[in-house]
Amino acid sequence: MSRVVVAGRNPQDVSSAIGFAKMVADASGSSVVAVALSGGDELGRAVAGIASEAYAISGSGHAPELMLEALGRVAGPDLYAVVSPALKDLTDALARFSAGAGIPMLTEVTEFARGAGGEVTLRRAAMAGRAVAEYSVVPPFAATVAPGRFPAPQPSGTIEVRRLDVGARGPEVLGVEPKRREGVDISSADIVVGVGRGFRSKEDLSLAFRLAELLGAAVGCSRPIAADYGWLPEDRWIGISAKKIRPKLYVALGISGAPQHMAGAMDSKLIAAVNKDKNAPIFQYADYGVIGDLYQVVPALIRRLEELRR
Ligand SMILES: Cc1cc2nc3c(=O)[nH]c(=O)nc-3n(C[C@H](O)[C@H](O)[C@H](O)COP(=O)(O)OP(=O)(O)OC[C@H]3O[C@@H](n4cnc5c(N)ncnc54)[C@H](O)[C@@H]3O)c2cc1C
Repeated sequence: MSRVVVAGRNPQDVSSAIGFAKMVADASGSSVVAVALSGGDELGRAVAGIASEAYAISGSGHAPELMLEALGRVAGPDLYAVVSPALKDLTDALARFSAGAGIPMLTEVTEFARGAGGEVTLRRAAMAGRAVAEYSVVPPFAATVAPGRFPAPQPSGTIEVRRLDVGARGPEVLGVEPKRREGVDISSADIVVGVGRGFRSKEDLSLAFRLAELLGAAVGCSRPIAADYGWLPEDRWIGISAKKIRPKLYVALGISGAPQHMAGAMDSKLIAAVNKDKNAPIFQYADYGVIGDLYQVVPALIRRLEELRR
């Protein structure tokens, strides 16, 4: 029987791509095989009733190298597909695996369909989300998907998790210098307030933080705010080169709406924008737009929300 291997750093990662793995497996009559860098029994519970085999990797070294070695061992001659959530280490491992195996790989796949001749059609966003690209590939193939994009079936029971010892892999790490992070997870926030270059100083961001507090929102930002000015850490940066958000509401303040920014915000259910330029591209995406100076609009919003709280 052909195999669809789903890879993750941990059981949560595996669960976030197993919906896609199952869809591919059902369409091709394959079985699902789960492999994770950590997890043990938790992995067994996460994939039970969906995967027929589960492996927890043991070994030391660089995560992508450990996963690469593990994929080589579990893929087997009947591989149909290797899939994972679109996370850095996993994308790295899948890319190397697919290059070594001479199979095609696509990142951030959004749709899958099996054709009559055994080929499969995969779709993904192109041109920073303004177009959809369609690819026809002959399996086996490798693919990453946005975490949670394909709903996971409910696991039931538990299955045995086998240990896969891959030994020591990858370069020796001589030292680690942590990036400045606040541990904020804007990707899973229900409401995000985004700040852009319309803010004149770091101190003025307190307006956005107050608004966010009143809305129960997380604060995100455009690239210049994190990468050029360093006013906020990179884990708040939204866009094609950073975090993708999928909130129920995205409030964009002083953000022009460049395609590279919107590639990370386009999956928001509702977008509300405040911008003083009526021609700003953000208004093409916004469900609600206020053409105005954020230094007037945001304090007014804050006052109104404070009144409603009293
Ligand atoms: C390869 C590449 C990758 C990139 N990746 C990303 C990415 O991942 N994320 C990202 O964000 N960007 C990314 N960029 C940069 C992107 O192209 C834009 O330059 C950036 O998003 C602009 O940020 P901004 O909207 O904050 O600033 P600006 O484009 O300068 O827009 C500021 C906006 O604020 C408005 N404004 C000014 N003052 C006020 C006020 N008082 N009240 C209300 N509105 C006001 C202006 O009208 C303007 O529309 C990337 C670029 C490249 C080339």
